[in-house]
Amino acid sequence: MNEKLFPTEPTLIDCEICFKEIPDSVAVTEEGEDYVVHFCGLDCYVAWKEKNETKQGNDE
Ligand SMILES: [Zn+2]
Repeated sequence: MNEKLFPTEPTLIDCEICFKEIPDSVAVTEEGEDYVVHFCGLDCYVAWKEKNETKQGNDE
């Protein structure tokens, strides 16, 4: 049951990469074990993903 009974002001969140404010209804969300991050679009999501994967330093 996720129906909205009445319009409410959208919750604005900051994009993790470019810090643009976006309504959470249109945000791209990535959830990890102990974090949740939001992006304004796939471009920022991909940018974060690449950065994040680099940081984790997988064995090669
Ligand atoms: Zn962004």
